Amino acid sequence: MKTIDKIYINGEFITPQGTEYFDLISPTTNKNLGKVLLGNTEDTKKAIEAAQNAFKTFSKTTTSERIQYLKNIKSSIEKRKDDFINVMIEEYGGTFQFASVSYEYMLKGFDSAINLLNSYNFIKTMGESEVQMAPIGVVGIIIPWNSSNGFICSKLSTAIAAGCTTVIKPSEMSAQQTQLITECIHEANLPKGVFNIVNGLGEVVGAEISRNPNIAKISFTGSTNVGKIIAKEAVNTMKRVTLELGGKSPNIILDDADFSKAIPLAIGAAFMNSGQACIAGTRLLIPENKLEETKLLIKETISHLIVGDPKNPNTAVGPMVSTKQFNRVQDYIQTGINEGAEILTGGLGKPQGLENGNFVKPTVFIKVNNQMRIAREEIFGPVLSVITYKTEEEAIEIANDTTYGLQAYVSSSDSKRAHNVASQINAGRVQINGISHDPMAPFGGFKQSGIGREFGILGLEAYLEPRALIQQK
Ligand code: NAP
Ligand code: MG
Repeated sequence: MKTIDKIYINGEFITPQGTEYFDLISPTTNKNLGKVLLGNTEDTKKAIEAAQNAFKTFSKTTTSERIQYLKNIKSSIEKRKDDFINVMIEEYGGTFQFASVSYEYMLKGFDSAINLLNSYNFIKTMGESEVQMAPIGVVGIIIPWNSSNGFICSKLSTAIAAGCTTVIKPSEMSAQQTQLITECIHEANLPKGVFNIVNGLGEVVGAEISRNPNIAKISFTGSTNVGKIIAKEAVNTMKRVTLELGGKSPNIILDDADFSKAIPLAIGAAFMNSGQACIAGTRLLIPENKLEETKLLIKETISHLIVGDPKNPNTAVGPMVSTKQFNRVQDYIQTGINEGAEILTGGLGKPQGLENGNFVKPTVFIKVNNQMRIAREEIFGPVLSVITYKTEEEAIEIANDTTYGLQAYVSSSDSKRAHNVASQINAGRVQINGISHDPMAPFGGFKQSGIGREFGILGLEAYLEPRALIQQK
């Protein structure tokens, strides 16, 4: 049993003023792992004040100083690889496979921030004027539980690259993961107050970050509903917002695709991170005349999929993060049944032998139409909806008939055709014939999947304000 009773403000681990504890429960066994002491509004204000003081000098650091800080953090994270992977498995129920990839992404976040700093011009000429790209101020970072330290690293590294200081509010369910990353960042010897982290509830700590006039910008990853609450509050003090929200990503398999490759890939895209991924490809769009072949391939692929103990290196689907999330996924499976979709594989209830944890049977629905709730709403679990189409035009229409627009997938054996289809999808990223992450390309959503972009130059510029100096001659 672990007790986490410190938050991190102004370069020190301190005891928060908040007195409420939150229990940390194992997603795999539902046994108690420990508890975390939650920060309150006063703690959050203190963290913001520390970041505000630190900004005065940190905003004036040179790019080479900031590159050194980024290198320091990266090397302290490198020393704790096994700890990062293990704590993500234990506390979040992330599979060993996902936790390992996630760990590599954490490191890559620092590499790409360093790359950016090596090439980005903070002073430009536009028209006749000098334009200085100035750090925006104190950034509030609010993140969910599904890749907690990954989000901390990508957002913090960009903030540091820009010369901004930060107050971070992770999910209280990620407290042990947070403790580990905080220890690493503490070891990196950043100037006091550049990095502050407050465990606590969204309605308390997150709300103060959204309200406080000394926060200049919020970088939020989470649900569309909470994103809207934050954006409404932020506008009162004209905070800039970057919102990375939900998705209902379409995966178009064109009729000329190699289905023996495209379908296993589609299952991987749907069930990545046990389905708890904003970019999961949860709507599989198949030509009508390929449905029977697709059904066989889906069943075959899923029969080899290991669901269970996230520690097992071969496990593909682990437990849902909480019983709340498990129940939410069950409710959606029931909704699909009520709406008249047909279960091809999976269904309600826990897989045999996994009754103690929050395990869901990977579930695939066929006979889904795009108006059903299971095709429109983000489920955030291993549930895939198969939708058939007659023509390429109809596939594009169905793909775009969504309130979301975060990511999409296209498979075809003709790369020109795939490119042409991909260019008509309203999504921030379209993956063609595979899945990968380009850390220098923008990431973010069209429509209700968010506002703004992360990564690459656009991601960096979201932490900067242009100041034009117009000198009379
Ligand atoms: P969530 O409920 O939106 O919570 C996200 C964060 O916001 C948490 O730290 C939460 O704190 C906090 N929060 C809650 N209410 C708040 C308020 N009134 N003011 C300020 N902050 C508040 O999301 P989640 O359930 O943790 O995560 C799943 C969601 O994240 C999914 O919808 C998924 O699509 C989205 N997501 C998006 C991306 C992306 O890059 N686009 C990536 C991953 C996940 P508490 O934990 O205390 O509630
Ligand atoms: Mg929440």
